[in-house]
Amino acid sequence: MLELNSLIKTYDSFDFGPVGLTVGNEVLSVLGPSGSGKTTLLSLIAGIVDPDGGSISLNGERLDGRSLQERRTGLVFQDGALFPHMTARKNIGYAATDPDRVTDLASLLEITDVLDRRPPRLSGGEQQRVALARTLAADPDALLLDEPLSSLDAPIRRRLRGELHTLFKSLEIPVIYVTHDQRTATALGDRTAIFRDGTIEQVGSPMNVINRPATRFVARFTGNENLFEATVAKQNEDTALLRVGNGCLRSATTTAATGTTVTLCIHPSRVQVYAPGGGVNTHCRNTASGTIDQWLNEGDEYRVEITLDEVSITLTTTIRPPNFDQLDLEADSSVRVTIPPDAIHLIG
Ligand code: ADP
Ligand code: MG
Repeated sequence: MLELNSLIKTYDSFDFGPVGLTVGNEVLSVLGPSGSGKTTLLSLIAGIVDPDGGSISLNGERLDGRSLQERRTGLVFQDGALFPHMTARKNIGYAATDPDRVTDLASLLEITDVLDRRPPRLSGGEQQRVALARTLAADPDALLLDEPLSSLDAPIRRRLRGELHTLFKSLEIPVIYVTHDQRTATALGDRTAIFRDGTIEQVGSPMNVINRPATRFVARFTGNENLFEATVAKQNEDTALLRVGNGCLRSATTTAATGTTVTLCIHPSRVQVYAPGGGVNTHCRNTASGTIDQWLNEGDEYRVEITLDEVSITLTTTIRPPNFDQLDLEADSSVRVTIPPDAIHLIG
């Protein structure tokens, strides 16, 4: 178990922390914009940078004052940082605790065939796998990864993401995986921590962070553009009536008192769009007519902007290509829009 207690680092123009965090034998993905302190977090744990306050323990023992080697924290960088003059095999074996580990890890990471090549003759994906194997060969007690896939092309990134998921599960040590890519954070993390300006803004399961953002910052950073100011008009135990724009919407839960102003948050993937008069979900009370403003074809989905006619708010929604084709939309097309009450989250 990795425990960070009120960890602080002060640079001239940046304050990191205080950060308190416990990571068990799980993958914690750390997500945050550039400059939010993600690399600083890993550097402090690995011992590259000394903290100005707080403490770090790994399996109950304080890491403070220990050298990089003594910490037994494996660190993998964005660029792999391999020794260029050594073959992949020598790179992996460099700090190996057991020579057999090199062959085992090479087979696990599917790099057996390239073991006798030097880094300049390896592809980006192969270099990253060699770097990971080199770190794992030292049998670390915790694994720290700093955007290891960010320099790779999308197809290889997706494939490696799947392989890493399986690998991390088998390690049974704390893994901290830093990324600025929300999909990677969601796919790999048992939990996700969102960093902002050197501190943790929210930590929770990836789906919780996406569907129940604690702040507007987290909502935006996890791809949720649908944020509206609303007033709680009325509520009972299982539903709240919210005034928003010129109309109202119902949410399945409410945490705010009647009369208070809240931010209403609807994830684009949860907005349902139907042809006018089409098969609308009649169990849902948040059904309204809308007009298509514009859309963007992002390949795997369309991002569509729709203005709700009476409520007069503009929602962003994502629609899969087959559904989009079926709707046969044009700018100014009329549609029916349903927002399930449990898709409406309130930020207090
Ligand atoms: P991220 O990895 O999230 O992009 P970093 O942890 O690398 O962010 O950096 C966070 C902030 O700390 C940045 O503003 C950066 O300029 C500053 N910083 C990082 N390292 C140093 C350093 N050695 N000296 C001064 N400032 C630093
Ligand atoms: Mg960084």
